[in-house]
Amino acid sequence: MNNLLQMPLTEAVKAVKSKKVSAVELTRASLGRIAECKELNNFITVCAESALAAAAEADKKIALGGDPGPLAGVPVAVKDNISTKGIRTTCASKFLQNYVPPFDASVVTALRNAGASIVGKTNMDEFAMGSGSENSYFGAVKNFRERSRVAGGSSGGSANAVAACEVFAALGSDTGGSIRQPAAYCGVAGLKPTYSLVSRYGLIAFASSLDQIGPLGRTVRDCALMLDVLAFADPRDSTSVPRPQKTYSDFVPRVKGKRIGIAKEFFPDTLNADVRKRLNAAVAALEGAGAVVKETSIKSFNAALATYYVLSSAEAASNLARFDGIKYGYSDRSGDGLTDIYFKSRTGGFGDEVKRRIMTGNYVLSSGYYDAYYLKASKVRTLIKREYEDALRDCDALICPTAPSSAFKAGKKTSDHTQVYLEDVYTVPVNIAGLPALSVPCGTDGGGMPIGMQLIGKAFDEKNLFELAGAFEEITGGNADV
Ligand code: GLN
Repeated sequence: MNNLLQMPLTEAVKAVKSKKVSAVELTRASLGRIAECKELNNFITVCAESALAAAAEADKKIALGGDPGPLAGVPVAVKDNISTKGIRTTCASKFLQNYVPPFDASVVTALRNAGASIVGKTNMDEFAMGSGSENSYFGAVKNFRERSRVAGGSSGGSANAVAACEVFAALGSDTGGSIRQPAAYCGVAGLKPTYSLVSRYGLIAFASSLDQIGPLGRTVRDCALMLDVLAFADPRDSTSVPRPQKTYSDFVPRVKGKRIGIAKEFFPDTLNADVRKRLNAAVAALEGAGAVVKETSIKSFNAALATYYVLSSAEAASNLARFDGIKYGYSDRSGDGLTDIYFKSRTGGFGDEVKRRIMTGNYVLSSGYYDAYYLKASKVRTLIKREYEDALRDCDALICPTAPSSAFKAGKKTSDHTQVYLEDVYTVPVNIAGLPALSVPCGTDGGGMPIGMQLIGKAFDEKNLFELAGAFEEITGGNADV
């Protein structure tokens, strides 16, 4: 591998701006590395031509003494459920395998305006439903550190491409953990921003009240630099809000005096021993550096998973109704009449997990069951949100594992989907509560696989999370190793 690719994003930007290396050179190296790592299956589409053109544009601006933008032609990747004009956007589905959006998602426009070179679209679970990036129509993603293991999901391709130094950073989406859990499994940092901080315009919707786009990077500051570009008020997304911070990437690592909440429910007796050990060591290190550790309680912890699967499936059933074989995407017209087109297109176009969610969603929304499931889950949602907000009143961040284990074996859990759902136990409450959370690497298990620590913050308090996680990264010596 070209050593240049191991630089953090922040360093790469500086190197390009100071003409130590050209953006075109970095983009070529990135494209070379993507070809070298083909077997990992991180990319569904590689867009070499437009990436090199964006890099050349940045180099030209620099040569003329102009501003190439905060990302200065440095190569990044975008998850394949985020619309890119003229570049197919498949959601890793058969349904959209040939769909080429006529417009860019607002975050993609922002990346382009920031001068980024978008080298490709990353593999994921079909329609972002899954925790291993195995539910892809384009084949499973293989973990860069250990091919027999999953990369996590659903933004598995994005996390794995960052870990393998194919790109300097990537966009993922997170409805119930899909940025943080693959970040943990691949040993990189990943942020789910506060709901409404980053525009969802052009993100192919899974569960609109939970979905957020966010960055994955090899360092905390790389994620902060990406958030500088991604956070802005967007009139095209009615839930989008003005950004409260001027910049995130200028944060100063700080831990002294910060109050860290540890809920006892986060550490049940059944927790994997390696995960417990690494988390205890991480919290002790933060305490040693001056953090104040407080015990707290989140009583609703065990209710969050069921609540999430009711709410997210209901929203998914509604959002995915548009894939009917008529408007766009896969269409099977071999039958007789309109009903047959709907039936055959949806039967043949969706994979098993997506169908499971649609069926669950329509069930919990149906008239006889609405009160018992959807309405009940909506009420529990309010309780969960209140409980996290209350716990965060007395502390600056809550800390827990990102996932209950390290990356699981490929193929192992595909037969038992409830086992896969359990991977989301620590991440889904954060989406339900709409809060920001950052996953950072906190060492490895006995087999050398990364373990992630999740820091959960108050709404719009991303900068505080960066300060704390940045300080932790300094204590542990960073994670830019591959
Ligand atoms: N694993 C979760 C699910 O399958 C989360 C998915 C996501 O965040 N997109 O629903």
